[in-house]
Amino acid sequence: AMLPYFASGRVVTGFGRGGKQLGCPTANLEDATVSDLPVDFDCGVYYGFASVDGGPLNGMVMSIGWNPQFKNTRKSMEVHILRSFDDDFYGSFLKIVITGFVRPMTSFSSLDELVKAIDEDIRIAREKLTTDDLNKYAAHEFFNTSI
Ligand code: ADP
Ligand code: MG
Repeated sequence: AMLPYFASGRVVTGFGRGGKQLGCPTANLEDATVSDLPVDFDCGVYYGFASVDGGPLNGMVMSIGWNPQFKNTRKSMEVHILRSFDDDFYGSFLKIVITGFVRPMTSFSSLDELVKAIDEDIRIAREKLTTDDLNKYAAHEFFNTSI
């Protein structure tokens, strides 16, 4: 019922808990954006589309979870864009639309399991993201107005 969900905000530094080391950098959205989430928005892994600084839409897979930086009292929104970037884009303005749900949050007993789950999340997101939806959202007012 909450999807599609549109959100935007600046990319901030995360906890540095190894997004990149795991081959999966996640652009963390600023706290103001997280605070705007409806309180009952379920934690979990989602997919959708993202645009960096008004650039083209790309598929993304993201997590909404509890943020260890704030002793798990606040949520975090971390977006992995399904393309590679030459440079980091901390401070950039990120717009996203969340279009689908992959799975609830779970904790993993090993790093290996976590890496496998991330690979599977990315595979599922790629499978579910369609060109029709991409074109539809690329034409959407949200992605065609500044800020
Ligand atoms: P942090 O803990 O600071 O979020 P990460 O290891 O998760 O560190 O890396 C996130 C940063 O990597 C993003 O803020 C962004 O600047 C950069 N980055 C490079 N490629 C991507 C990508 N494909 N998706 C998301 N972020 C990316
Ligand atoms: Mg991150």
